[in-house]
Amino acid sequence: MSKKPLKKQTSSQIYGGRDYSQPEYRKWRQQVRKRDDYKCRMPNCLRKDRRRLQAHHIKRWADAPELRFDINNGITLCRTCHDSIKGRETEFEELFNSLLNFNHNLLLYKIKRGDFDEDKTE
Ligand SMILES: [Zn+2]
Repeated sequence: MSKKPLKKQTSSQIYGGRDYSQPEYRKWRQQVRKRDDYKCRMPNCLRKDRRRLQAHHIKRWADAPELRFDINNGITLCRTCHDSIKGRETEFEELFNSLLNFNHNLLLYKIKRGDFDEDKTE
């Protein structure tokens, strides 16, 4: 893996060879955003701009071809947050993975506790 110099890159350099219109890719982006309830997952993100949400690959597109369409390798970010981590994707892998794990554990906890039982009243 070569280390790229930290300079401003155009998106065509970063996403070289990626076909956004590919059905599998569109489906992946949709699934990721739906799972994240159409919200930016970056902690402390104050921009609630739902129109510009993007699905970010936790392990980079170029580095992990086998995870390109794995929903667990995706996280929803707003455009601003997504732009802010460009070129530093690997630094955020751990954070994003733990955010997704937390989600998963919380869901299991709720199921166990019976939050999803029918006809339950508080
Ligand atoms: Zn954000």
